[in-house]
Parts: sequence; C-alpha cells; structure tokens
Amino acid sequence: MTLQTRIPTFRRSPTVLITGGAGFIGSHLCDSLLQRGNRVICLDNLFTGSVDNIRPLLNHPNFRFIEHDVREPIELGGEIDRIYSLACPASPRHYQKDPIGTMKTCVLGTINLLELARLKGARVLQASTSEVYGDPEVHPQPESYLGNVNPIGPRACYDEGKRAAETLMFDYHRTHGTEIKVARIFNTYGPRMLENDGRVVSNFIVQALRGEPITIYGGGTQTRSFCFVDDLVRGLQLLMESPPSVTGPCNLGNPHEVTIEAIARKVLTYTGSASALRFEALPKDDPKRRKPGIDTAVRLLGWRPRVALNDGLQATIAYFALQIAGETPSLVPTIARRRTDRTARNQMKVVDPSL
Ligand code: NAD
Ligand code: UDP
Repeated sequence: MTLQTRIPTFRRSPTVLITGGAGFIGSHLCDSLLQRGNRVICLDNLFTGSVDNIRPLLNHPNFRFIEHDVREPIELGGEIDRIYSLACPASPRHYQKDPIGTMKTCVLGTINLLELARLKGARVLQASTSEVYGDPEVHPQPESYLGNVNPIGPRACYDEGKRAAETLMFDYHRTHGTEIKVARIFNTYGPRMLENDGRVVSNFIVQALRGEPITIYGGGTQTRSFCFVDDLVRGLQLLMESPPSVTGPCNLGNPHEVTIEAIARKVLTYTGSASALRFEALPKDDPKRRKPGIDTAVRLLGWRPRVALNDGLQATIAYFALQIAGETPSLVPTIARRRTDRTARNQMKVVDPSL
C-alpha cells in the first residue's frame, strides 16, 4: 500500500449536519454516523420528529441537537463537511395538514441549506422521493422517467415541492459548483415510525396489535415496494460518500413489490391478530403501482437491500409491541444494527459506510 492510499478522506472526524434528524429515518442516520466516528449535528423543528428518537444520543460527546425550522435561515459556527437534507414531513397525513408549510419546507428549506453548504463548502444530499414519479405510467421506475404528477392535487405540495428541491440542487450545482447528491427514496419502514404516522406499515401494525380493523384504502390491489430502514440508511451514506461526479438522482428502495392487501395479511400473520380487514375510500391521486429500478444504485454504489420484507416486518412489529406496552422501544436494536454494533466496536473511526 502506498502512503497516498493510507491518507484518510478526512484528517479529523467529519462534521455532519442532519436536518430532520429527530424523525424516523433521520434518527437512524444519526445513530449510524455517530457509530462511525462522525460528529453529528441534528437539526429539527419536531413537527413529526421526537426527542424520544434521539434521547439515547443526547449525552454523546459528538452529538448536538438544535431545535430549528429549516424555513428560517440556518446559521451555524464551525466546519460542516456533509449535510443530509431530510427535514420534511413524509406521510400524506402530515404533509397535507399544512400544505403551504410543506411546500415552503421543500423550497425555502432547500435554499437555506444550499446557502449554508456554499458558505461551508459542504456536500449536500437531498432526500427526494419516488413521489417525483407521481402515479407512474412506466413500471418499474428508472431515474430517467420524468413522472406523472398532478400539480394541483392534494399530494402536489409534497410531490412538486420535492421536484422543486431537486431543481434547486441541480441549479446550485451548475451555478455554484455545490457538491450534490439526490436520493429518490421509495417507501421505507421500520422502528421509530410514529404510531399516528398514517403510513401503511405503521397503521396496519398498530391496528393489528390493538385488535382494531385494518384500514385498506381502495381495493388493496395497489402496490408498493418496501425498504427496511437499515438498508436505506446504508444506501444514503454510500451515495453521500460516492465520488463527486455522482450526483444522482439515484433510486434507493427495495424492488420487492407487494400489494397492500398482501401487507395486511402478513401483518395479521406475524402479530397473530384477529383484526378484520376494513375497505375504505382510496385517497385522490394515490399511485397504483410503485417499484424502484435500482440499477444505478447497484452499479455506482454497489448497494442493494439486504433485509427481507418478512424479517423487517417482524422487527417493526416487535418495536410497536413494546411501544404500545409503554416500554422503551427506542433502545431496541434493529436487525442490521445488531450487526453494525459489533463492527462499530472494532472500528469506531471508520467513515466508510459500506459495512
Ligand atoms: P419523518 O416525518 O419521520 O421525518 C421528517 C423530520 O423532519 C421530522 O423529524 C420533522 O420534525 C422534521 N421536519 C419537518 N419539517 C421541518 C422543518 N420545516 N424544519 C425542520 N425540521 C422539519 O419522515 P421520514 O420518513 O423520516 O422522512 C425523512 C425524509 O425522507 C423526508 O424528507 C422524506 O420526504 C424523505 N422520504 C421518506 C420516505 C419514507 O418512506 N420514509 C420516502 C421518500 C422520501
Ligand atoms: N394505505 C392503506 N391503509 C392505510 C394507509 C395507507 O391502504 O391505513 C395505502 C395507501 O392508500 C397507499 C399505500 O397504502 O396506496 C401506501 O400508503 P402510504 O401512505 O404508506 O405511502 P405512499 O402512498 O406515500 O406511498
């Protein structure tokens, strides 16, 4: 090995800002980056996030929590090397509650972050979404597909907001040379989703555990492809640390496509619940099919999901069972974290996210 190849990317622990870090995905990312020896600043306005998600981290010497809204300019002292832009409600129930606020979070929040990135010379990763494809007419969805979004419907505040955020990322890249990464995240699930999140996996599990009817919207024949949170968090870090020429957009999701009714039946099986299925109206503009094409992630990042749906669902059910029983589920290790913990104990300073 030459001297050159031994020089690490960073001569000090990298400082990583995660907006939305107290949310579902963000809190898992905080855990993972801290375990790899990064300094982590978690910035969140707690709209859908919770201090409970990051409580075990609050006394960590490399962790700092700042309560702040990304719609306001972000002023931070010190160096920042990486910015993960996750701040935005992700569940239709929550992003439709204040649609104008959601659009502002996507647009003003992204501008504020990109300005901070310019000032600090930081690299930025934007958590975009499969919703940029709308109700897709191409299946599965490759990154080259331009989408089928209703710009005036109830989902538009999120879908068009995220599309505008992607536009801003690429315009800052072209205009100012900002180093950018755009991840198009497909449906992700796992521990630390809110009980009242409103998305399908958490809804079905909570309903099954409480013995309430399972609410299937429409006929249940619509499909989604569900990615366990540990896989997604690993993919985000691989994309962030990919060469500067890799900007994305890059789909991150699990191509295992299932119907919503199949998810309901799996949840009933794994919980042993006797809950009935209750069919309700399909929300407007609800996409009929969704499945990521992940060739880009496989080719450029060597990433593919590892956690099977059945295993991920059982880990998520175990989390909600504890939460409903009033125990301390934020301390429950998820599937991959058990493996990562062992690795992290041996390699605390490693930044390479390919573990
Ligand atoms: P989440 O709602 O659990 O997390 C979002 C976090 O952002 C919360 O902690 C919330 O309090 C915070 N937030 C919202 N508005 C803010 C604002 N104006 N200022 C500061 N903080 C704010 O959702 P999640 O599932 O963890 O999603 C995280 C990101 O990933 C979001 O940007 C979402 O659009 C994206 N994403 C998620 C999925 C998924 O399936 N989970 C799919 C596609 C994209
Ligand atoms: N869904 C459902 N019952 C619920 C919640 C959601 O049948 O209690 C359906 C919803 O209509 C959609 C799918 O499950 O077809 C996924 O919904 P979710 O809100 O989780 O994600 P998104 O629609 O944003 O992909």
